[in-house]
Amino acid sequence: MAASFTLDNSYGRDLQGFSVPWHPEAAPAPKSLFFNEPLAEELGLDAASLSGEGGAAIFAGNAVPEGAEPVAQAYAGHQFGGFSPQLGDGRAILLGEVIDRAGRRRDIALKGSGRTPFSRGGDGKAAVGPMLREVLIGEAMHALGIPTTRALAVVATGEPVLRETVLPGAVLTRVAASHIRVGTFQFFAARGDVERVRQLAEYTIARHDPDLVGAPKRFLGLLERVAERQAELIAQWMNVGFIHGVMNTDNMTISGETIDYGPCAFVEAYDPAAVFSSIDSQGRYAFGNQPSIARWNLARLAESLLPLLADDEEQATVEALRVIDAFPALYRRHLLSGQRAKLGLQRADGADDGADAMLADDWLAVLHAGRVDFTLAWRRLADAAAGDDAPLRALFSSAGADASAPDAWLERWRERWAREDEGTSLGGTAAGAARAERMRRVNPWVIPRNHRVEEALAAASDDEDLGPFDRLLDALRHPYDETADNAPYAEPAAADVTAGYRTYCGT
Ligand code: AMP
Ligand code: MG
Repeated sequence: MAASFTLDNSYGRDLQGFSVPWHPEAAPAPKSLFFNEPLAEELGLDAASLSGEGGAAIFAGNAVPEGAEPVAQAYAGHQFGGFSPQLGDGRAILLGEVIDRAGRRRDIALKGSGRTPFSRGGDGKAAVGPMLREVLIGEAMHALGIPTTRALAVVATGEPVLRETVLPGAVLTRVAASHIRVGTFQFFAARGDVERVRQLAEYTIARHDPDLVGAPKRFLGLLERVAERQAELIAQWMNVGFIHGVMNTDNMTISGETIDYGPCAFVEAYDPAAVFSSIDSQGRYAFGNQPSIARWNLARLAESLLPLLADDEEQATVEALRVIDAFPALYRRHLLSGQRAKLGLQRADGADDGADAMLADDWLAVLHAGRVDFTLAWRRLADAAAGDDAPLRALFSSAGADASAPDAWLERWRERWAREDEGTSLGGTAAGAARAERMRRVNPWVIPRNHRVEEALAAASDDEDLGPFDRLLDALRHPYDETADNAPYAEPAAADVTAGYRTYCGT
């Protein structure tokens, strides 16, 4: 049966010299491990034909869909602060683009589909565990309302890949608003090819910020939009405890989607210094550093765009710096807006953002001091909004802190909402219940707990048992539901498990 879908290739067609035509390597024995039906529907693809064997052949790279002119994309990047002028798709292929049901152009790419001209020393392959990891974290982020690339399919190749041990190989099909990265701009900027930087910027604007097309200050506008999207994205990460783990400039998208779920992890006990990646020995990409790293990456984008920003270099630098310097405040605004929702606050407290930011900061300080689980603390705060402080206090005592640790802060929080509720028709209990309900829609009960993710991946990779993966995925797709089915996934790992948890890049 011929499963297929039609692809466009604007990236390869409109941008000459930005990619290399390249075909995926065929897999010896493709076997579907995961197919994302809701996403296929969203893309307007024929889910019924693609979920079968014909789909597996495409998603393994064995059959190329109609109209596809697959390419490997060029990019550079700062990795842990050091610049690599040539990275590129070393194990990925952009098959092409589809226009989804909402009219948006989305990239369809394979990851783990064999060597390319950008592979350097690598084998071009990927293993089952890390590719299923991209599924779990991407779907979780999506369900949490956080912009992200998503997995359309994962196919086992039937071929072993050699890492520290021999692992089963897999190919991931990844859907992205685009794969244009800060590092894509750096690739041409580093070669002094201003004309290509300009072409890329024009293409990017047409694709991601079409309202800026033809505007006199569109390149500065692009930088501002990327800053805006990243400020919002990182604020969302911080508000769910997500640590990306490898925020190199080649892993930061222009679209504002989270990309590359390699060494990422979620914090359990709130700690800005949390680092899980085995290679991040300096803590460059620690949880609390993410906003400042985003700003650093943005400065690298600004440098790449500099010749386009103004005729005179000094003027260009002034304009770029204005955007970069505004980033921290922009980020804090997004953070606070998310925190207000998490705290059950509907309105800004007069003009006084400072007081609300302090209230939120002090809450985080109480969590940090008590070493309580970040996700559950927010969730139990919703119970407190409904009038029951006991579950929150119990969380503190079970973490070894004093049950009364949150009391003083809770009092301030209640004073703050009393001011907000003044003059509204809702009485105390009804207002509290409504507040708790709102909080439960923005404070997840289920996040991809590191130990649960590892357990699901080990079963899939070591025993070909996808049961734990499927059950976890189902829970992650309903993160706000406090149900019996979700209960096993809401529990934190034992503290010693989290303390010893390490994640790995490039797997
Ligand atoms: P990542 O850490 O996945 O963001 O990858 C960083 C760079 O290394 C990118 O250029 C990748 O294409 C490349 N890379 C990672 N793993 C492999 C591999 N197994 N074979 C070839 N290239 C790879
Ligand atoms: Mg990458």
